[in-house]
Amino acid sequence: MVIYGKQEVYKIGVMIQAAADETVRYREAVKITKGQLYCNRCGSHFSLREVRLPAGSYYCPGCVLYGRLTDQDQLVSIHRKEEAEVLQTKPQIHCRWLGELTRQQSRMAEELIRCVDSRENVLLWAVTGAGKTEMLYPLIENALNEGKQIAIASPRIDVCRELYPRLVAAFPDVAILLRYGKALEQWQEFELLVCTTHQLLHFYQAFDLLVVDESDAFPYEGDPLLAFGTTQALKPMGVRVCLTATPTKNLLQKAKSENWQVLHLPQRYHRRPLVVPELFFLEDWRNLAKYPLRLARVLRICEQLLKENQVLFFCPDIAFMKHITKVLQEKLPQKKITFVSAQDPLREEKILQLRNKQWDILLCTTILERGVTFERVSVVVMGAEHEVFNKSVLVQIAGRVDRKGTQRNGRVLFFFQEQTLAIRKAIKEIIQMNQLAKKEAKR
Ligand SMILES: [Zn+2]
Repeated sequence: MVIYGKQEVYKIGVMIQAAADETVRYREAVKITKGQLYCNRCGSHFSLREVRLPAGSYYCPGCVLYGRLTDQDQLVSIHRKEEAEVLQTKPQIHCRWLGELTRQQSRMAEELIRCVDSRENVLLWAVTGAGKTEMLYPLIENALNEGKQIAIASPRIDVCRELYPRLVAAFPDVAILLRYGKALEQWQEFELLVCTTHQLLHFYQAFDLLVVDESDAFPYEGDPLLAFGTTQALKPMGVRVCLTATPTKNLLQKAKSENWQVLHLPQRYHRRPLVVPELFFLEDWRNLAKYPLRLARVLRICEQLLKENQVLFFCPDIAFMKHITKVLQEKLPQKKITFVSAQDPLREEKILQLRNKQWDILLCTTILERGVTFERVSVVVMGAEHEVFNKSVLVQIAGRVDRKGTQRNGRVLFFFQEQTLAIRKAIKEIIQMNQLAKKEAKR
C-alpha cells in the first residue's frame, strides 16, 4: 500500500521498487556546504561544529523529534506519475452534508473553487462562527472529483479532532485519514488527510490542495520549521488555502507580497453579531480568595451566567487555574466544576462532557480558545491583561459564544487589573466586524 508523497528515511544507497506508474525520488536528508548543515526535511541550518556525532557523521537537531536524520541518510518519497493520475476513473463523489450555505457562504465557496482552479493561493478571513468548514465542502467535493490529493492541516490537535468527524459525515464514501502526534490510526491509503501541521513534515510534494485551518494559531505562527514543512508538502503547482478569523500582520503581509487572494467574511452564518466583551476591573485577581467582597462579586456574576448557559472560564496559567477551581468548587458546592489543560489525559472526555451538559463551569487554559464549538456557553477570561491573551486569542475566546443553536444571551466577560492594548484592539476588531457585517447584509 502506498501513500504518495510520504517521505521515508533510508540509509544512502537503498533502492525502492516502484510500479510502472510510479516514480521514486531520492534526496539527501541533510546537505553539507561551507561548514553548515542544511536539513531537507525541516529547513533548519546549523554550524557543523554544533551537530557532529561521536562517530563523525552530522545530524539535524531541528527535527530530531521525528527520528534522527544524518548525512548518512536519504529521504525517499514515492510519487504517482501524472499521466497515471489522469487515467484514473472513479465514481463521482457527492457531499452528504444536509445543511444549506447562506448567500455569503455560497459566494465564498464559489470564490474558493475559482481561486484553486486558477492556482491562486487564498487567505479566507472569516469571523469566528462564520461556518468555515461548511464553506470548504464544495471545494473539497470539486477537488476530490478532479482526483486531487488533499490535506487539511491545523496547528491544533483539538481542531483536527473536531474537523475529522464532520468531514467523515460529509464525505462517507471518501477514505479520510486523521493523523496527529498520538493518533492511533495506522497509515493507510487516503484521499483526504486531516492532520496537524507537524505531520506535514512527513510529506514531500504530495498535495495539490493544502488547507491550513487556524493558520495563525500557536505553534504554527512564527515557527519556520512548520512553515517549511507546509511549503514542502505542496506539489510545485499545488495551491494553499489558509483559514482564520484572526490573521496576524505577518500572514496578511505574506498574502499581500505573494499576491494571494484575500476573501473576507465578516458575518456569522446565523447572521447574529459577534458578542462584544464586557470589561470588569478586578484588582489582584490572582489572590481573589483573600478578598471576600471581590470574590462574592465574581461568584454572583458566575451564578448569573449559569442561569442561562454553561461557563467556559479561561485562566492564564495552570497553577492559577487549579487554585481558582478549588475556590469555586468550595464556594459553589451545588455546581459541577472542573478544569482542563493540554496536559490533561482526560482532555477529550471533559470537552465531550461539557457538550453533554455534565459540567456547569469548565476552567481551561487557552487550549480551548479556538476550533471548538459549544452550544450554550458564556465565557469568562480571568486576568485578561496577561501576555498569553493577545488580541487574536481574546477575539477567538470571545468567538466561542453564540456560535450555534438559538440565541441564549451568551456573554463574554473580561476581568482585568490593567487595560492592555490587546484588550482594546480585540474589542475594537469585534465591533468593526459587526459593522462590516451589517453593511454586507444591506448589499
Ligand atoms: Zn531537520
